[in-house]
Amino acid sequence: MLNVKRIREDFPVLQRKVYGKPLVYLDNAATSQKPRQVIEALREYYESYNANVHRAVHALGMEATDRYEAARRKVSQFIGAPNPECIVFTRNTTEALNLVSYAWAQHHLGPGDEVLTTRMEHHSNLVPWQRACQERGATLKFIPHAEDGCLDLSGLDSLITERTKLVTVTHMSNVLGTINPVGLIARQAHARGAVVVVDGAQSVPHLPVNVQELDCDFLAFSAHKMLGPTGIGVLYIRPEITDQLEPFLRGGEMVREVWYDHATWNDMPYRFEAGTPNIADAIAFGAAIDYLSALGMEQVRQHEMALTSYALKRFRELEEVQVFGPGDVTVRGGVVSFHHPQVHPHDLGTFLDREGVAIRAGHHCAMPLVRSLGVVATARASFYLYNTEEEVDVLIAALQKATRYFARATERVTQAKRA
Ligand code: PLP
Repeated sequence: MLNVKRIREDFPVLQRKVYGKPLVYLDNAATSQKPRQVIEALREYYESYNANVHRAVHALGMEATDRYEAARRKVSQFIGAPNPECIVFTRNTTEALNLVSYAWAQHHLGPGDEVLTTRMEHHSNLVPWQRACQERGATLKFIPHAEDGCLDLSGLDSLITERTKLVTVTHMSNVLGTINPVGLIARQAHARGAVVVVDGAQSVPHLPVNVQELDCDFLAFSAHKMLGPTGIGVLYIRPEITDQLEPFLRGGEMVREVWYDHATWNDMPYRFEAGTPNIADAIAFGAAIDYLSALGMEQVRQHEMALTSYALKRFRELEEVQVFGPGDVTVRGGVVSFHHPQVHPHDLGTFLDREGVAIRAGHHCAMPLVRSLGVVATARASFYLYNTEEEVDVLIAALQKATRYFARATERVTQAKRA
């Protein structure tokens, strides 16, 4: 079991108050808070060995290079990649997914081809494929999901055809919390010769993820959702597929030799890291991975399952509130999107903020999915390893208070109209 009380001491921001109330941070699906160890790694880099990587022969440059490459090794081990050369540092998940679309899809999709995805994707894993399909004359198709938020795989056999060139699926929905059986989908996709992309933005921070078990060709995720800094993300590329990719960004570092009229490409992963990379944040990301690895991802998952279970139970007390996504926490992560019939999610978010509770309100960059739920927006509470049952209680109490407050406000308006 995680020692959450002890863990919380590592997160300076969790000690602060908002509007005089202790902060209850439940917006972890958007971005997580950072432990002292990560903040310290950033400070140490800038204070002690700030230099560019891979180029300098001086001590600082070599130290920066060693630490930058050590971070790559940590990421590689964290997701069970066969070697660190499979790990390309990007800015975030969005850039990683765009990299696949430019470097692979642009060169392998043609008229009549199909790309298969789900109806629960974040815009980052939808809009790049819309563009790729439009430009290459391919068709974008969707795996449906049932009302409980779980993918309906009954028709998968006929959805994946010999025309399917790429299958791209979110491992965990940032709206419904659904954990999708990506390994199963990947095996069927590979059997038909399709390439498999997994959006791991919500899964890698919260569950044990192993690329060999997932059997994916690409896995994209962001450091900032897993205790690391903003501005650094990852694209895992299966070694066997590397030769099918064309460089995305071109310039320094990604080349081996350059002439006036042509150039040749560097080895993996540098071929996809053009220009000076985000050195400090990659190194601090390494510190975040050390932190998570020391706790153990299985422990993190167990903690969040228990917390989500508790939250779903408490939400059932709020009869008027509708909760989206699967009820079974074995196929659901710590994301709880909900809708209050009388209160707009933004009003709810603002009200809760005054109670010290940070949640998210909106379409969560998944407009088509939220629209399909029959609402304009949802409110969303999302948990991480430092959240507690007491914080869930604060959330529920604040929601009950909001219900009473807005009911009185509506009543006053009704009376004023009658008068
Ligand atoms: N995919 C999913 C499922 C997400 O939840 C997010 C961010 O919320 C993203 C992709 C995009 O991540 P980033 O904004 O770090 O690129």
